[in-house]
Amino acid sequence: MFSLLLAAIPASAQEALTLRLRRDFGFGLGSNVQGTFSFRVSGPDNLERVEFLIDGDIIGADDMAPFRLQFRTESYSLGIHTLSAVGYTGDGRILNSNTIQRQFVSGSSANRVALWIIIPILVLALGGRAVSSWIANRGRAHEDKLAVTGPFGGTLCPKCSHPFAMHIWGINVGLGKYDRCPHCGKWSLVRRVPSDVLHSASVALAKDVGENAPTTNDGDSFRQQLDDSRFD
Ligand SMILES: [Zn+2]
Repeated sequence: MFSLLLAAIPASAQEALTLRLRRDFGFGLGSNVQGTFSFRVSGPDNLERVEFLIDGDIIGADDMAPFRLQFRTESYSLGIHTLSAVGYTGDGRILNSNTIQRQFVSGSSANRVALWIIIPILVLALGGRAVSSWIANRGRAHEDKLAVTGPFGGTLCPKCSHPFAMHIWGINVGLGKYDRCPHCGKWSLVRRVPSDVLHSASVALAKDVGENAPTTNDGDSFRQQLDDSRFD
């Protein structure tokens, strides 16, 4: 039907009717389209009327510049469609536009194609977050000495009475753990201590550290700290 129409009109017109397809809202990748699009037609100055066609059927017309028509791909069957326009000039000529072929795809397949684009972006974003949390965890490891709670609970060292978080390497012995105190470096059997007790002990520890930190008068404690850092 459409090819008959084309054949009937001689391709003599040098003043072309130019059809472009614009995506107003939706999805377009290559020839695949889905959503709201519009015909945009430009032609000679004396263009008076433009008819817009999909597969040779007139779906609308515009009698005033700019010659445009918006449509939704959902209104048509899925698959390849041919878009074109016919223009009528003030001096009685009929102009045929170029044709545009597009594959109308369903919303779900448009989403699927969009996922191909979005998933790599998500992977990059989440990967970046994993790396930054890994860096944050490395920083946290240095605060291990001052941490008094952890996944294995906190306890008080029976030797130096400083609080510390129980370690993963602590050896389970009955109801307690055989664990090493990061403050005095001694191993002892420890048990989980309620958090309020830990809190007051850690406040005391912070005060203690604050008072003793500048004065490393005895070389023993300094060497002890070196030993500790080697273990951590
Ligand atoms: Zn201790």
